[in-house]
Amino acid sequence: MSLLTRVKRLVGIDTRQQKYSYAQDPVYGKVATARLADTWVKTTCGYCSVGCGMLIGVKDGKAVAARGNPDHPVNRGKLCPKGLSEHHILDGPGRARQPLLRKNGVLVPVSWDEALDTMVENITGIQARHGLGSLGVVGTGQLLTEEYYTLGKLVQLGFRTPHNDGNTTLCMASAVSGYKLSFGSDGPPGSYADMASADVVLLIGSNIADNHPILCTRVGEGPGKRPGRTLIVVDPRVTKTAMMADIHLAIKPRGDIALINGIAHILIRDGLTDPAYIAAHTNQYEAFAAYVAAFTPEHVAGITGLPPDRIEQVAHLYGRAKAGFIGWTMGVNHSSQGAVTVAAINNLALITGHIGRAGAAPFSITGQCNAMGTRESGFTSALPGYRKFDNPQHREELAQLWGIDAEEIPKARGMAYPDMIEGAVAGNIKALWFIATNPVVSFPNYNLLKQALESVEFLVVQDGFHPTPTSDFAHLVLPAAIWGEKEGTYTNSERRISKVNRIVTPPGEARPDFDIFLALAARLGVKEKLYPGWTTTADAYAEWQRVSAGRLCDYSPHSWADIEAQNGIQWGGERLYADGHFPTPDGRALLHNVPCEPFTEQPNDEFNFILNTGRTVEHWHTRTKTAQVDMLNGMVPNAWLEMNPVDAERLKLRSHDKVTIVSRRDKVTDVELRITSIVAPGQVFMPFHFAETNSNRVTLGAFDPISREPNFKQCAVCVQKSSAH
Ligand code: SF4
Repeated sequence: MSLLTRVKRLVGIDTRQQKYSYAQDPVYGKVATARLADTWVKTTCGYCSVGCGMLIGVKDGKAVAARGNPDHPVNRGKLCPKGLSEHHILDGPGRARQPLLRKNGVLVPVSWDEALDTMVENITGIQARHGLGSLGVVGTGQLLTEEYYTLGKLVQLGFRTPHNDGNTTLCMASAVSGYKLSFGSDGPPGSYADMASADVVLLIGSNIADNHPILCTRVGEGPGKRPGRTLIVVDPRVTKTAMMADIHLAIKPRGDIALINGIAHILIRDGLTDPAYIAAHTNQYEAFAAYVAAFTPEHVAGITGLPPDRIEQVAHLYGRAKAGFIGWTMGVNHSSQGAVTVAAINNLALITGHIGRAGAAPFSITGQCNAMGTRESGFTSALPGYRKFDNPQHREELAQLWGIDAEEIPKARGMAYPDMIEGAVAGNIKALWFIATNPVVSFPNYNLLKQALESVEFLVVQDGFHPTPTSDFAHLVLPAAIWGEKEGTYTNSERRISKVNRIVTPPGEARPDFDIFLALAARLGVKEKLYPGWTTTADAYAEWQRVSAGRLCDYSPHSWADIEAQNGIQWGGERLYADGHFPTPDGRALLHNVPCEPFTEQPNDEFNFILNTGRTVEHWHTRTKTAQVDMLNGMVPNAWLEMNPVDAERLKLRSHDKVTIVSRRDKVTDVELRITSIVAPGQVFMPFHFAETNSNRVTLGAFDPISREPNFKQCAVCVQKSSAH
């Protein structure tokens, strides 16, 4: 296929039908696609948390093209391959079109009435026999904020189980917990604008080139793009992002805490801190300084494998920067020490005063399109509006807003997602309800997860697609509308609330998740109590504005109309904590002494590689959506395993050999080998997207004790050549 044809396909133009000159078309088909579509609908990308604004072309009731919104401040007209092809998922062949109920072992079509009646009857029956807490619910950062807020009320005040969590716990829970440890509340302090204006950008465990590609425009486009700016990337692999860096620190796995403590040591030793900021806005500095005194460059070099002079150089660059920005993603979060690693990053920002100023921020780059909206609207690790379960005043405020008795609101968070899975295996959770998530591919230690799915008496899978590896286990499948078929808001990594619009009608009998939640509430007899007079997601948004009013994540000033008109609005403004006042009891941030512990499963003679898993730009998470898009699937149809040439030679393996990856738990067979110095000797890497070669057959079920996020990034494996077929 010619490059031109590929570009045309990329922008959704059927080259067989359109007479079209790309030369006339400087902005992703602006001229030509105007002929293609009857109307263009403004909306926001439904994949990652960058939150790109887009325009979807509609012709004869079908979405036919996608292009970046040139007026949108996040992406200024650009989209990555997923965004450019997003309209194709709407009429993908794998869409779920009708409710399915398992009868005599087979999923058969049923009416919505039968599906929802059966669901309520079975779940309330299980709860009557085993207690209200025998139901666990796992939602998703793919839902609209309005839907997630509605779901939280339904689960905790309707079904009255405290066990409500999101698949975001597999993703950003450590950032949430780390912010709470340091600042007293969740809430990313900075903005993409800070990433662009900082003179030193330090990315730790963050391969934005694959995972948040449009953000690369804020740090990249050639080292000469912004004179004087230094990009430092900390990653065990030579990722695409590391290739963009001025300095790449190829750290040993789990060396991040030692490095961060070591940078703090040098900053304090060399007088590169901000004593006035520390004195005015932090607590526990003396204890912290004493603690990091042991993290000398030589000591840190031993743990991280980095030369001491490189550690000194990076510390000096960050300490002397006018504005230093630290961004991180899953390399930090996907750790059994993820929450405290985030606190360690925050320590650096606090002792240097690199926070609350233009270009200066510690900043979590979130995962899913609405991971932020779901953690704000809550009922998972926090009550809505960043309120706390154990705070009687917070519960009373919500009770008054909702016109209920405060005693109805749980006083503690329920089980986190991993605890629900373990609870199902232990027999405490008897019913599970998954919404727009695919744990069979995304959850660590597949065999434990499978045991959980087979243990429960009733499993509901609500998704826009069927079959999925998870819906295959379901007793009930509820077909849901997806992005492009419903209206509401997503909030991106930089706290920007963006409007998401309905472009087409859902296929078959699929319904918006919001409608499903209201229909269930009606069957439970709580519709008017929980959702008085509600008919659309606009009603949910209006209540959410009242509930968030006066909180850090205050949506009350921002109407849908304003959000739409301004191409998104950041709650809290461009950055938080500009006044150095933090939402802690005394208004001061807290410095933490963070120990550096080895990761759980160290390699040995038998399992002699450290396996790291991650993503590639062409796919989204478990490929439920991107496997539907021929262009994306065609570019990357299969998983691969990266191995250093030194190890490949020792094992007598050759490029493209099919290999089997074995851990103490299970194995993954027939993965294509790529021999490359992108990975260091002793380490291997594979993408986790592919159900057929599910990396989570070998990953381990180790979790952060604070955030409950899985330690996806390191487990011990061995690699063998697959036997010939
Ligand atoms: Fe969508 Fe993220 Fe790509 Fe932007 S970078 S188009 S938000 S997937």
